[in-house]
Amino acid sequence: MQSTMQDSPLLVREILRHGMQVYGASEVVTFEGDGSRRASFAEVGRRAAQLAHGLQGLGVGPGDRVGTFCFNHQEHVEAYLAVPSMGAVLHTLNVRLFPEQLKYVIEHAGDKVILSDATCAGLLARVAGECPSLERVVVVGEGDASAFDSLGSLADTISYEELLASRDTEFDWPDLDERETAAMCYTSGTTGNPKGVAYSHRSTYLHSLASTSSVNLGISSRDRALVVVPQFHANAWGIPYAAWLSGCDMIMPKQFLRAEALVRMIETERPTFAGAVPTIWNEVLRYAEAHDSDLSSFRVIVCGGSAVPLSLMQRFEELFGVPIIQAWGMTETSPLGAICLPPRDADPSEEWSYRMKAGRIAFGIEARVVDGEGRVAPCDGSSVGELEVRGPWVTGSYYGEPSSERFHDGWLRTGDVGTLDELGYLTITDRTKDVIKTGGEWISSVELENALMAHPAVFEAAVVAIPDERWNERPLACVVLADGRGASPDDLASYLRERVARWWVPERWAFLGEVPKTSVGKFDKKALRAGYAKGELDVVSISREA
Ligand code: ADP
Repeated sequence: MQSTMQDSPLLVREILRHGMQVYGASEVVTFEGDGSRRASFAEVGRRAAQLAHGLQGLGVGPGDRVGTFCFNHQEHVEAYLAVPSMGAVLHTLNVRLFPEQLKYVIEHAGDKVILSDATCAGLLARVAGECPSLERVVVVGEGDASAFDSLGSLADTISYEELLASRDTEFDWPDLDERETAAMCYTSGTTGNPKGVAYSHRSTYLHSLASTSSVNLGISSRDRALVVVPQFHANAWGIPYAAWLSGCDMIMPKQFLRAEALVRMIETERPTFAGAVPTIWNEVLRYAEAHDSDLSSFRVIVCGGSAVPLSLMQRFEELFGVPIIQAWGMTETSPLGAICLPPRDADPSEEWSYRMKAGRIAFGIEARVVDGEGRVAPCDGSSVGELEVRGPWVTGSYYGEPSSERFHDGWLRTGDVGTLDELGYLTITDRTKDVIKTGGEWISSVELENALMAHPAVFEAAVVAIPDERWNERPLACVVLADGRGASPDDLASYLRERVARWWVPERWAFLGEVPKTSVGKFDKKALRAGYAKGELDVVSISREA
């Protein structure tokens, strides 16, 4: 029996329309280093229409890719709204990619126009001349775009404000098929070339609804979101769309991502919600502790992208009364996959054992764990295997690249290793490529890191596998000590012996000034392994049973 319901397509246009009409007075605040500028949703919506007219004037038509090479700011939000709604494809480019990778993703996606921050123009100009699809660069913000002068037809850059000037503030947003691509994002390519994920209007719409749902992030018009996670990283975890449709103010930090600047923004703008990877919150915490800062405006902070150290969550709660809630996701899952709110009937003594998991599977996502033989493992919280997921905002393939090995009977193989329990809580013990295989057993680098980072003298710790003649692989602990603190490998090893299996405790230790980070701020374990292989790390060995 056919239903009687209307079948209106799920489009980004509707997100734009609703936020502008219903929450016109909500605001987008852009931090400028020495102050901020503000625009209401109504104004941002009108400027989105002007942008669409401007892009049309540059020849952008249905399906054309419009790249953004920008930090988080008002103009980037305008592009998020305008580009998909006009039927073109928004392609967010990571401003921290190496030139080779940047060229690869621009070419692979076939970007026709790129909106680039003036402050990033030099970087883009280094590769733009070698990207045949690229016709025009639009420069956002004040700055010098002379780096394009020698690039033939690309020399004719246009400023963003010039593109918008005196354009109509209304646009006849077209009817589109909800399955068409609204936006694209490439994985950061920690192994091999980056892979492209093409989000549909439908997946974006559903993911935005899920993000605002009270069972997940619960963003509403009573919130002010500090959007630290970059708009080029998995669509800033979908926060801009979720905030727009629910009237939540957005505070955009631009390139001012150091702890001092973030704390200043928090103290002046008083956000109630924020999202960022653990390394950012670790830096913010260190700064706030040293400067007696006030971070109490937050209702909740969402943190993910890599395992969130328990010590970080506990310290935040202790000092500021602010819960950091862990979430799990990936570029391929839009990214919301799981969010870690403890069960309603959990005993307070169990609170932290739940909070340190990666998350509870979100409605809309199905998850399972598959063992080495491809069999589905029980949801018992202890059977370990590769996590597989599927759902309406999970990618079913990679753009323009055969990659059947990454899928299994219609499920996405996440490359994450872990367990699921009977209540849908997910624990990630490792990524398949980071697992430490020692004498036929697996050691979880994530658990070792978590245990180490709970030591008061440790600021950051990353554990990687290194070759070992006897055991095949053993862990190498790379540690950054906290300011003014000291600890020897033996001290840390005996601390670990009380917390993890004795055979997990590393014999090899390297003390670093800083753990290298990937372009999205995660520990760069590939760089650590390469540094070790080249003999660049100063490694201290201790005896096994010290
Ligand atoms: P990249 O693959 O380049 O790191 P993504 O941002 O898509 O880019 O990363 C997704 C991966 O991040 C996941 O597959 C997982 O390994 C890791 N991750 C995300 N959230 C968590 C979490 N809460 N705990 C542990 N790992 C996480």
